[in-house]
This record gives sequence, structure tokens and C-alpha cells, in this order.
Amino acid sequence: MEDNTAAADVRYISSLDINWDQISDIIKNMLTDKDTYKGIGLLNFNNSEINRWKEVIPDHAEHVALKLDPVSSNTTWESLYPEWIDEEEQFNVPTCPALPKIQVPEKPGIDLVAVKLPCNKRESWSRNVARLHLQLEAARIVANTEENRAVRVLLLTECLPIPNLFTCKDLVVREGNVWLYEPELSRLKDKLQLPIGSCELAVPLKPNENFHSERSAYREAYATILHSAEAYVCGAIAVAQSIRRTGSTRDLLILVDESIGEHHRRGLELAGWKIRTIRRIRNPKAKRGLYNEWNYSKFRLWQLTDYDKIIFLDADLLVLRNIDFLFGFPEISASGNHAALFNSGVMVIEPSNCTFQMLIDQINEIESYNGGDQGFLNEIFTWWHRIPRRMNFLKHLWRIDDEREREMKNRLYRSDPPILYVLHYLGRKPWVCFRDYDCNWNEKYATKFASDDAHETWWKVFDEMPERLRRFCLLSEKQKARLEWDRRRAERANYSDGHWKIQIKDKRLKTCAEDFCLSENVL
Ligand code: UDP
Ligand code: MN
Repeated sequence: MEDNTAAADVRYISSLDINWDQISDIIKNMLTDKDTYKGIGLLNFNNSEINRWKEVIPDHAEHVALKLDPVSSNTTWESLYPEWIDEEEQFNVPTCPALPKIQVPEKPGIDLVAVKLPCNKRESWSRNVARLHLQLEAARIVANTEENRAVRVLLLTECLPIPNLFTCKDLVVREGNVWLYEPELSRLKDKLQLPIGSCELAVPLKPNENFHSERSAYREAYATILHSAEAYVCGAIAVAQSIRRTGSTRDLLILVDESIGEHHRRGLELAGWKIRTIRRIRNPKAKRGLYNEWNYSKFRLWQLTDYDKIIFLDADLLVLRNIDFLFGFPEISASGNHAALFNSGVMVIEPSNCTFQMLIDQINEIESYNGGDQGFLNEIFTWWHRIPRRMNFLKHLWRIDDEREREMKNRLYRSDPPILYVLHYLGRKPWVCFRDYDCNWNEKYATKFASDDAHETWWKVFDEMPERLRRFCLLSEKQKARLEWDRRRAERANYSDGHWKIQIKDKRLKTCAEDFCLSENVL
């Protein structure tokens, strides 16, 4: 006989086989003699499952079948994570679709919420709207608790729950498909204030640049990474210089592996970086010797647990205005790359050993769309928060090819050049070119990244570097030969931009960078 005292309201299909004995054990182990659950909210269970719950937790507990309307069929993942939103509100104000809210009865007070989540491993389960909706609403019940008591959340799922909503720090116990959390209330409340997806900006377009919180500043740092080769040392020095130019006093941390020698480490320290030596992490799916072989080393950022918040920056960008206000935003805040994905060149993250372990545990499971850390992190952190594009402005977006484009971009960014916070140098990096012009012009595959304005901006920061730091930006003889080779090829092909005609005046052309002559040169 079915018990109909609680009308179940199952709208989201989940074919999960529930192991009731396991749940029963977990709950029994969790409860002390004094403890009892008074109100148990049940979300997405059918009637017979609700009856099983009554057997699992029978004593004095009131079981509440929570009602939640499903999202409308036109609320797709793409509508929550659109590729582009009108950040500047030129044409419309971006808004997220509204998700139906859960109805929570006033009595009894709920102290355990159990949720059954759908997870179809044959589909893109981590970008499933129903799955997000159920987790957000379970979180809302916790966040709405007024009394000063802990509300626990029990998720039943074969797949990883959203790791930055219910975090592994909050995980009390996990056995098989059962995940029991005791979320930290204030953090959860903050997170629920954010837009539900990247359909709206999480960070205002005009933030208060004087943001400074004395209380937490010492637990916050900027970080970058250098692995495998010394090619980005000059870039990282420029990053540090650029941050200090904006007036930020936060710690600067650089993760370096053993490929970065003593001489270069000293330069990085002189620039302001605190060195953290790491063992690099191999991407098991990358081919040996390929550029992306070691880029999973970025995961080590999560081991910086002497800090609560890290703003990660690639070593190939410049901070042009103070971005300390980003420390006020949670993991993962980042700007859009393409489709529903974020760019991993600027990210707010929250170090945590268990998150690090989770990333490592997933290394063999997850297929990264681009074979890089960006693809990997986007599979884990599908619920990310959008920061404006101008806080990780991809260099080629700045490129203005004609008057029509200038007018369009002027309108879009309301200034020329746009008000940029971070400029990210995709393609060939400025320090491997001569300063006279952007060498991306001379390479067919790279011309899309060429921008003389962006190039010039980098060299302005270089000009402010002390001489002892500029030495780290010298060109090897091999690189000079390569630049000349590319230039000649552009000349032969008669590239219409004509940069190949420009006479090189950069002093680095005639300055020897090799070890044997380094001491004799001044830049
Ligand atoms: N990186 C590194 N060594 C390498 C390649 C990359 O240390 O051989 C680091 C560096 O911090 C760099 C980041 O990984 O900024 C991401 O790579 P890159 O910026 O070249 O990728 P892009 O932004 O051009 O896609
Ligand atoms: Mn980069």
C-alpha cells in the first residue's frame, strides 16, 4: 500500500538505484544520542522512495515532500551560459531566465534536505539544467534557515556535485552515491546572491577600484605559474611590475618547477614574486613533448592553502588597472572564452587541499576539449561566475582593422582604447618580438592576434622596468634568426599590412643574450 500523506512531486527523471541500507548506516553514524532530525525535506523523490525515507529516519521526524516546478523547456544550458552577453548594456540589459523557486513550508524547520539528482553519463551531465536547479534550490533551503543551527544536505548522485556550491570542505561523509554536506551558511548565502549562470555579470562593470579589506588582505594573493621552460620569465616579471603599478599591495606568488634556474628565480624575486617550487603535473592525455604536456601544473594553485583567495593570472598578460576588488568574488570567477566556457587566463580560485585532490582524482576521467587546463577546469567548474571581458581582454579583440570596426568597438566599449583592466597577449608574446612592431603580423597563423596598440602598451610597462629586470627580456640569437626568417617570408609573400618593411631599431637586436656575453652588455 502506498502512503499518500505526503504528495511527492517528482518532475526530474533520475534512474538512480538507491542503496537504502547505506543511507541508513550513514545517518545512524552521524547522529549522536541527543541529535534527531526534526524536519526532513525530500526533493525529487517518488512516493515509494518517500516511504523508504520514513523507514530510514522514523523517530519523531517529519518528512516534507518539497515541491519544485521544473524549468521551462526553453531554459537550456546555453540560455544560462550564453557565449556573449551585452556587458556594456548598449543594446539591452542582460538577464538570466528565472528558475522556479522551491516552496518551503514554515513548519517544521528543516534540518536535513535530501535530493536525488539526475545524471546521465552518456550525456553532458555536468551541464544539465535540472541538476543545477535541484542543487541551487537545496542550497536555498539551507541559506533561508533563520535559526542558528546547521542544516545538512544529502545528495544522491552517481556524478560529482557542483564542487563550488557544496564544497569538499563542507563534505561530512561520502560513500558511493551518497554525499552528506554541512554547508557553511554565510558562504552559501553569498553564493546564492550571484546570478544563476553567466547570463548576467557577477562582477559590476564599474567596480569600486578602491576596494580593500584589511581583515582578509593578508589571506589573498595574486599568483602565476612557470613550468617546463624559461620562456615566460620576462612575461612574469612584467606581470608583477604591472600589478604593483596599479597600487596593489597583495602578495605575489609564482609557482615554478625545476626548469627555472637560480638566475631566473632571482629576477622573479626582484620583480616582487615570492617563489613556490612545485613538481609539475603531467596531462596524461597529452602527447609527449607537446606544448600542453605539463599544463595541469596549474592545479597546484589549489595547494596554496595559506591563502583563502587567489587571483590567478597567466604570465602573458598585463594588469592595467587595479583588480583587487576581484578578491571579493568566489571560485570560479572568470570571463567568457567561447560557447559556455570561461577563459582560464584570469581566475579567482579558493585554495583547498580536497579540491586539489578532487582535480587529481579526475585527471584520467575528464576529456579536455582543447587538451589543456582550460578545457579540464571547464568540465569541473561548469557553474562559473562571469567577470567583464575587460578584466581578461583577449588581445585580438582590440584589433581595429578599419574605420567601421573602430566605430563599432567605440560604441561597444564606450572609449577608444577601451577601459581595460587586464590585457591578455594571445599568440606570439610581445617579449619575443622586437619592440618596433607586433611580430604576429609576420606569421600567417598568428596575424589574427596582431595588434600594434596592444604591443605598444606592453612596451610601455617594459620601459618602466629597472634595467636589471629588463635583462631578462633579451632575445636569444636563435629567436632573432627566427624573427628575421618570418620577416623574410612575409616580405616574399608581400603581406599587405607591410610591417615587414619596418626597420628594426630595437636595441635588443644587437645585444647578445647568451650566457657567455651577458655580463658585458647593457640594455
Ligand atoms: N606556461 C608555462 N610554460 C609553458 C607554457 C605555458 O609556464 O611552456 C604557463 C604560463 O603561465 C602561461 C600559461 O601557462 O601564461 C598559459 O599558457 P599561454 O599563456 O601560452 O596560453 P594562451 O593564453 O596563449 O592560450
Ligand atoms: Mn595566456
